Amino acid sequence: MGKALVQPVSAAARPLGVGLDSGAVRARMVQKLAEQGIQDKTVLAAMGQVERHRFVESALANQAYEDTSLPIGLGQTISKPNVVARMIELLRLGTTGKLGRVLEIGTGCGYQAAVLSHVASEVYSIERLRGLHEKARENLRHFRLANVHLIFGDGMLGYPKGAPYAGIISAAGGDAVPQAWLDQLAVGGRLVAPTITPAGHQALVVMLKTEQGIERSVLEAVHFVPLKSGIA
Ligand code: SAH
Repeated sequence: MGKALVQPVSAAARPLGVGLDSGAVRARMVQKLAEQGIQDKTVLAAMGQVERHRFVESALANQAYEDTSLPIGLGQTISKPNVVARMIELLRLGTTGKLGRVLEIGTGCGYQAAVLSHVASEVYSIERLRGLHEKARENLRHFRLANVHLIFGDGMLGYPKGAPYAGIISAAGGDAVPQAWLDQLAVGGRLVAPTITPAGHQALVVMLKTEQGIERSVLEAVHFVPLKSGIA
């Protein structure tokens, strides 16, 4: 590749997505994630591998590696890289090597599913908006990720066919964690979901399923699009 010949133009000026080296821009993003406290090397490597600019409109491609959430159509957003990395790190806590089967609720543009495909053996990702389900399929085609399974349906019901899951991660925030998710979680499995706390704001909730029951921790405040029931 002609990497050495490329003039040192600013990241924002580079026409990302047309074959130039976005790897360097991503490496900087990963470095920043590490500085922000993401420690899991497997997560950092996955974040460095997935070309985020391929998941957003070309007009937004030059913002793809900034730590910002971006619109993906139909009123939905792709989370900022820091939040994606943080949630996957929480999902993997205590795991050495790859996670087993993972369920993602809210495929959106498919970006997080692509990141998950590098840290889990199988990824089942469900989306309730047909337009986004189809867009994600289109976005992911390029990557040929054989272990990502996209499902169109209501993720509030989970996806029993892939259960039990080593991990469940929600990209949409509800008032409570649906019982179906806990039922479909393997013993020893972990769930990470933005949820409304008793204090009335949305925070990341982590649940660990043990033989004795569910261990729940409430972490930092977040802002996710709402978890809705039914399909559209
Ligand atoms: N992980 C996504 C983020 C998408 S935003 C990405 O990387 O792009 C959250 C998504 O959750 C939205 O697309 C929204 O339509 C979806 N969603 C909300 N409630 C849902 C439900 N019950 N089942 C499936 N998807 C849902």
